[in-house]
Amino acid sequence: MTRPGAATGTGRRRLDGWGRATSSHATVTGPLTAEAAAELLASRPPRGVLARGSGCSYGDAAQNAGGVVLLPDPDAGIRVDHARGTVRAAAGATFRQLLHATVPLGLLPPVLPGTARLTLGGAVAADVHGKNHRRDGSIGAWLDSVQLLCPDGTLHDIGPAREPGLFRATVGGMGLTGVVLAAELRLLRIASARLRVTTRRAGSLDEVLELLDSAPGRYTVAWIDTTSAGGGLGRGVVDSADHLEHPDPRREPEGPVQRPSRTGRLTLPPLPLVTPRTAQAFNSAWYHAAPRHRESVRDLTAFFHRLDAVPYWNRLAGPRGLVQYQFAVPGRAHGVLATVLEALQRSGAAPYLGTLKRFGPGEASGPLSFPLPGWALAVDVPVGAPRLAGTLDRLDRLVAEAGGRVYLAKDSRMSRDAFRAMYGPLDDWHAVRASVDPHATMRSDLGRRLGLC
Ligand SMILES: Cc1cc2nc3c(=O)[nH]c(=O)nc-3n(C[C@H](O)[C@H](O)[C@H](O)COP(=O)(O)OP(=O)(O)OC[C@H]3O[C@@H](n4cnc5c(N)ncnc54)[C@H](O)[C@@H]3O)c2cc1C
Repeated sequence: MTRPGAATGTGRRRLDGWGRATSSHATVTGPLTAEAAAELLASRPPRGVLARGSGCSYGDAAQNAGGVVLLPDPDAGIRVDHARGTVRAAAGATFRQLLHATVPLGLLPPVLPGTARLTLGGAVAADVHGKNHRRDGSIGAWLDSVQLLCPDGTLHDIGPAREPGLFRATVGGMGLTGVVLAAELRLLRIASARLRVTTRRAGSLDEVLELLDSAPGRYTVAWIDTTSAGGGLGRGVVDSADHLEHPDPRREPEGPVQRPSRTGRLTLPPLPLVTPRTAQAFNSAWYHAAPRHRESVRDLTAFFHRLDAVPYWNRLAGPRGLVQYQFAVPGRAHGVLATVLEALQRSGAAPYLGTLKRFGPGEASGPLSFPLPGWALAVDVPVGAPRLAGTLDRLDRLVAEAGGRVYLAKDSRMSRDAFRAMYGPLDDWHAVRASVDPHATMRSDLGRRLGLC
């Protein structure tokens, strides 16, 4: 099946990010064997090489203008070790494939981002997090090993205790230390693929924060009304969920079952469906339709990947695409959340989809990893409003001053200065990269924009 956002076909191609607000042309090639990939890297194409997964990063992280972009191998090569509770797979394995292979065995990838389309390679490169970061950390905390092909021709089997410097530079390193060929991941043991979900509606941002802090479930997330103002600013709906302790006798008589989302095609009109007015109507209707308090049981797909059922929802924002502004700030800086929501509302743009997560104390997997202990807010905004760019630049400064950072896997526009203010000078990261990539072969549009390559 073609993956939406994924590049297909080789030759000179235009590649977009998931947000469709950035694009560039590159020579697309692959999949290649490890030997052929090593030869490609050794040939040092003038504008460099970059590995791409399913293209689910929102901005320019998986693009390499004028250079070469290497596509993932569709042969997922998944091997589950039930006794050890681990899975080893090729970098091109999608989370959908991983779920299909592990769930019926009562095992689960410990970190599930909001789409099952992404690949294992993309997950390592972005050090992805899920709704359980508060408790379980990001994927870097669960990686036993990563097989990395470096541009100097060396093949490294790295892990938290094997070449830890290169491991930390690669997890979250946005593909700029080499090509991930495979990875091994520890899994969670589950008795059921169904979850007991407690849903609560909260009338203000303070209430949402309190509910997220006190929610007992392994998985917690809040869906925020990005358009309400005044006392209702940041109101939302908070989900707290845990796996059932036994298989659901009605739906899983023979043990955990993974039911992938059924994607339907959506025919969209040529005009943007998201405007300030429709964003407000949608958010308000959705908020009022939510129950004040409800207990329900949901399938894994319905809980984690409900947007995957709508394959082209990223086109709702119109032809100029969307920006997802996702940032994290330390717990004490929760005031930034309200400021960001207010500023986006005042910018004349139409913030239309917001999610808020509590990040836990887990140590950052690497210097470019996004998560930090505190709050992470993501807001989708259509590109086009004249004051949006200036507003986001101001918000970058605010986030940086608060000790926070913007997520590189979602970014398409941050300046080099803002990036440095958030992530620091990264001398160690640059030193590790230079040791395995002395000719700066691994390149991306994001890397060039932010001064990483
Ligand atoms: C609907 C949706 C929901 C999302 N929800 C979450 C979420 O909850 N949490 C979260 O953390 N993220 C989330 N994301 C972001 C997504 O998880 C990351 O952007 C992830 O990196 C995408 O993986 P991909 O396979 O599509 O990689 P791509 O987008 O193709 O590439 C992303 C980066 O990975 C690098 N890369 C890919 N493959 C390799 C490889 N083999 N070797 C080296 N580098 C490689 C690329 O060079 C690039 O820098 C979401 C994205 C979408 C579209």
